[in-house]
Amino acid sequence: MGGRLIVISGPSGVGKGTVVSELLNRDKELVLSISVTTRSPRPGEVDGKDYYFVDYSTFKKMVATDRLLEWAYVHGSYYGTPKDFVMQHLEQGRKVILEIDMQGAMQVRRRFPDAILIFLLPPSLDELKHRLMKRGTEEMDEQQLRLLRSLQELDYLREYHFFVVNVEVNQAVENIMKILSLVDFVVTED
Ligand code: 5GP
Repeated sequence: MGGRLIVISGPSGVGKGTVVSELLNRDKELVLSISVTTRSPRPGEVDGKDYYFVDYSTFKKMVATDRLLEWAYVHGSYYGTPKDFVMQHLEQGRKVILEIDMQGAMQVRRRFPDAILIFLLPPSLDELKHRLMKRGTEEMDEQQLRLLRSLQELDYLREYHFFVVNVEVNQAVENIMKILSLVDFVVTED
């Protein structure tokens, strides 16, 4: 029996990381795909846990040898999903979570028509800006760039199946868990 891909996207600062890690804590059946990126680690980030941090030539080689399920250039760095890991877990019937941007989500949707796409929304734009500022890990210019891109991304919204507003982490996690418990029954493969 095949598993299912669960894509979770949302603008920077919406709290994807927190929501996803809480989701994994609560449902041990879920598997998280760890992405490869050319971005430098932020303070506290661990190679192999948060991301596989690689240089550009390694990333390019992974693309050339078809080792990425999807990849995209996001906020000045490359990001991609290692293919083997995901395929192995799907074959074992697991639900695999991909925390990826919209460009990647669109690629996944094309290749896996039964993938479930969930978009995490901030309670408001002001709140998103506030959360980004509070994170304070980036220079102002980069923050503005991310905010701008977040807005451009809204164009892709109609491609998503479910929207979850992250007012409060536990509530958002519960709503995602409800979605996950329903998709097996509601959505049929093409
Ligand atoms: P961050 O650098 O803040 O960790 O992530 C920046 C953006 O890249 C986020 O929107 C995140 O969802 C996205 N991202 C992370 N990993 C991947 C990936 O493997 N593929 C794609 N397409 N986007 C990713």
